[in-house]
This record gives sequence, structure tokens and C-alpha cells, in this order.
Amino acid sequence: MIDADYNTETLELESLFHLSYGMCVISSKHGKQINGCVVNTVFQIVPEPPMVAVSVNKEALTHEFIEKSGVFAASILSEDAPKTYLGRFGFRSGRDFDKFRETKYEPGRTGAPILLYETVSCIEAELMHSIDVHTHTLFIGKVVACRTIDETKEPMTYRYYRDVKHGRTPKSAATYIQKSKTGLKRSAKAMQKYRCIICDYIYDPAKGDPENNIEPGTSFDDLPDDWVCPDCGAGKDEFEPA
Ligand code: FE
Repeated sequence: MIDADYNTETLELESLFHLSYGMCVISSKHGKQINGCVVNTVFQIVPEPPMVAVSVNKEALTHEFIEKSGVFAASILSEDAPKTYLGRFGFRSGRDFDKFRETKYEPGRTGAPILLYETVSCIEAELMHSIDVHTHTLFIGKVVACRTIDETKEPMTYRYYRDVKHGRTPKSAATYIQKSKTGLKRSAKAMQKYRCIICDYIYDPAKGDPENNIEPGTSFDDLPDDWVCPDCGAGKDEFEPA
């Protein structure tokens, strides 16, 4: 249990950025449905038989599928995975968006989908243990299949994602740290353009977002709170003045 008076403000949370991680899409299935989400918390915990663990947010559709099917797959992303790809799997919800549409993949031995695009290798596991950890569940699985998909590619580390790709972390991620509320500058000008920091999409108030019923002339501040980037699904918090 976490104490009611536990206060993270006294902690130097930036220290946690020095932990090393790799970027993966964790995926699972339920009947004919499939889903996946970006995580940076897949790690091997036992050598023989090989077992891996992954921390997944309880609200994620992938979490629900892993609990129901008892299987999961990790597709290890390469450094050249584009930001739109990371945004789609990291920021959009599989409840209202088919993340695998327009994505090259195939079912693995467990039936969980394996990404074949910008993926170095994949690991499939059968669920052995689930540990409740506050907002997340730590799933532990026995490896039942694994293979290299493209040995010419370099796996993407979390540091590379942040420093080179200038990637951000969704609030649902196991390693999310709340950014300072002073970090976002709001422009007073109604026609200020805003850039998605995940995929570089530009919101132009002069054009609006007609496909999502946003009329031309709508300022960024006047967009609904639940409006998301039409390219990658990032929320308004992930935009900055262009
Ligand atoms: Fe975007």
C-alpha cells in the first residue's frame, strides 16, 4: 500500500530518467480482436526457462486482453520507427481506433500480433503471474517463441526516444513524470499555430480540423478538451506553439 501522505514533490524524479529501457509494442488478443501499446518496461527476469515481465496500465485495452487471453507479445522497436507510429501505438486508445490498420503485422504462435515494420525482434510469452502494482499490473510470462525480424536495425532505447526523437511519455505509462505546468506556453493570439510534439502535426486555426468537426477559425484554446492530434492521437497537452 502507498501511504496517504506520500509526497513525490520531495523526490528528484529526473534521476529516474537515468534508468535504461527499450521501446516495445506490447500486444495481445481477445477472440478475433487484437491490440497493442507502446511500453518501455519489458525485461527478462529469469534465464532458464526464459521469463519476461512487463508493466501495463490497468486502463489499457491491452491489459484487458492479456488478462483474458493469458498471452502477450513484445515487438522490439527499431530506432527508425517514425513518430507517427509511436504516437499511434503510444497515445491512441484501441477502444476507439484500430491501431493495426495500415500496419504490417502477423499473428504469432500465441495469436498475439507481431509487428513486422520497424521491428528488430519479437518475444511471445504465456502469462504465469500477475502482480497488482497500484495503477499498473506487472505481468510475468514464460517465453514460448522469439525470433529476430531485422538484424540490420538497432533497437530503440528510451533515452534515444527522448533525446533523438524528442518523444514524450503518455500519462498512462509506467515511467510517466508530470511535467511542470509552467512548461507549456499558451499564446494569446487566437490564430497561433500549434505543433504536436509527438508527430510534428501542425494545428492551424485558419484550417481547423474539418474531419473531426472543428470549424476553420477555431483557436487552439477553443478546441474541445478531448480533441486529439488527428495523425497520432496525442492530447492537447502534447502540443506547443509552432
Ligand atoms: Fe501527433
